[in-house]
Amino acid sequence: MSYINENFLNLQESYLFSTIAKKVAKYSEQNKDRKIIKLGIGDVTRPIVPACIEAMHKAVDEMGTMEGFRGYGPEQGYEFLRKAIIENDYKKRGIDLEEDEIFVSDGAKCDCGNIVDIFAKDNKVAITDPVYPVYLDTNVMSGRSGKYNSKKGIYENIVYLPVTSENDFKPELPKEKVDMIYLCFPNNPTGTVLTKEELKKWIDYAKENKSIILFDSAYESFITEPNIPHSIYEVKGAKDVAIEFKSYSKNAGFTGIRCAYLVIPKTVKGYTKSEEEVLLNKLWNRRTCTKFNGTSYIVQRAAQACYSKEGQKQIKENINYYLENANIIKEGLEKSGYTVYGGVNSPYIWLKVPNNLTSWEFFDKLLEEVNIVGTPGSGFGPHGEGYFRLTAFGTRENTKEAIERIKNWKK
Ligand code: PLP
Repeated sequence: MSYINENFLNLQESYLFSTIAKKVAKYSEQNKDRKIIKLGIGDVTRPIVPACIEAMHKAVDEMGTMEGFRGYGPEQGYEFLRKAIIENDYKKRGIDLEEDEIFVSDGAKCDCGNIVDIFAKDNKVAITDPVYPVYLDTNVMSGRSGKYNSKKGIYENIVYLPVTSENDFKPELPKEKVDMIYLCFPNNPTGTVLTKEELKKWIDYAKENKSIILFDSAYESFITEPNIPHSIYEVKGAKDVAIEFKSYSKNAGFTGIRCAYLVIPKTVKGYTKSEEEVLLNKLWNRRTCTKFNGTSYIVQRAAQACYSKEGQKQIKENINYYLENANIIKEGLEKSGYTVYGGVNSPYIWLKVPNNLTSWEFFDKLLEEVNIVGTPGSGFGPHGEGYFRLTAFGTRENTKEAIERIKNWKK
C-alpha cells in the first residue's frame, strides 16, 4: 500500500487566485462589452530587455556547436553568474561573499519551498500575517504545523506575527522562542520595508535564540529610499544567522524564463539534537547536488546579462516604469480619499478597504462597478482582512485608466 504524506490533507485549498479567476470569468461572460483591467496577480508585463535577449540568442547558437555545447552544468550555477552576483549584488554594497555561498536556481518560489528540507520537523516557525503563502504551505506540507483552526483562520503551532497599520506593517519580535523566521522585505503584499536598525533587532533575536532568518528579497530592486538595506547582509551579524533569497523575476521580468539564487554564508549554522553545530551551506549543497541538475545554461547567460552596463540600464528603465505606475496608483487613490500603504519601495499598493467592507466585498464591488481586479487582503492571512492589494505591474495605459475609473467612482 502506498501511504500518503498526510500533511497534505492539512493544507487549506488555496481559493485565492482560483476564486478570483472564477469570479472574473463569470463576470466577463455576463458582461462581454466591459473592459476588465487586471491589477491582481504579481506577474510582470514588460518584455525581456534586449541585453538578455541577445545573451540568450548567443547562448542558443553556442549550444549548436561542438565547442560551445554544454550538457549538465554545475548544480550550484555557472561560475560566470555566481561571480557576477558577488561583484554586483554584494561587493558593491560592501558585502564579501564567496562563490560557494551562492546557489543559482530556477526560482525563489522553489527555493523558499525547498529550503524546509534541511530543517527538522519540530522547529517552531514564525511568519508575518499577511504573508506570501509559500512559506506557510511548505511548512504545513512538511509537518511543521499543527491542525488548522478554521474559526481563526490559522494553524496551531505556527507563530503568526501580525503586520497591520497599528504597527506600521512592521512585525514585532515573537513573545515565545521561535527557530525559523520568515521575513520578506520589501514586503509582499503590504509593500513596506525595514531599515537596518529594524532588521538588526531580528538578527540579535536570531543570535540569542540560535534561530535562522529566511530573508526573501525578491523585490529588492524596487527600493528607492536611501536608508533601506538592499540585502540583509548589510546589517551587522546577518551573515551568522540569515539565508537570503533573490530572484530575477520582478526586476528583469524572468517570471517565465525562471532564474533566482539563494545565499547561504558558510558562517550560518544549524544544530543537531545534541547541539552540535552544522553548516547549513553544506546541507543545502548536498541537497542541491542530489535533487537538482542546475538552471539552464541559456537562462544563466540571460541572468548574467542583467549585470552588463546595457542590461542594468534597460532593467532600470523597466523598474522605473513600474515604480511610476505605483506612484500613479498611490497618488490617485490618495486623492480619492483612500488610505494607502506601500508603492514607494515596492510594486505593491496596499490599501485600507473603505466603508468597513470586507476585502472580498470590496473585490466584488470593484469588479462589478468599475471593472477592476485586485487581490483581497484576507487571502494573504487573517490580518489582511480589511485590506486590498493592487499591483503596479500592469501597462501604463491600463494603470491610468484604472485610476481614472476609481476617481470617478461613487462608492
Ligand atoms: N517571493 C515573493 C515574496 C514573491 O512574491 C514571489 C512571486 O510572486 C516569489 C518569491 C517567487 O519568485 P520566483 O518567480 O523567482 O519564483
